[in-house]
Amino acid sequence: MSTPTVAPVEVTPDADVRPTPDDGDHDRFAHYVRKSDLMRGYVEGEAITALCGKKWVPTRDPERYPVCPTCVEIRAAAMREG
Ligand SMILES: [Zn+2]
Repeated sequence: MSTPTVAPVEVTPDADVRPTPDDGDHDRFAHYVRKSDLMRGYVEGEAITALCGKKWVPTRDPERYPVCPTCVEIRAAAMREG
């Protein structure tokens, strides 16, 4: 079985974010985005915005990239604040 390259945090059922790959050609990270934004991106082909502010159109397999450290920090802070 394949495993994610990096899994620094658990994605809990009530966390409205999930790692999604950056489609840029320089820094390839999996970024956390809101599920609603991700689905819109897949369905409508619109650019979505990650927690860190990165914007791109989701197309790639998220397990192929390490998770964006900025997204991890922002998500962790949001989880702590509840
Ligand atoms: Zn990010």
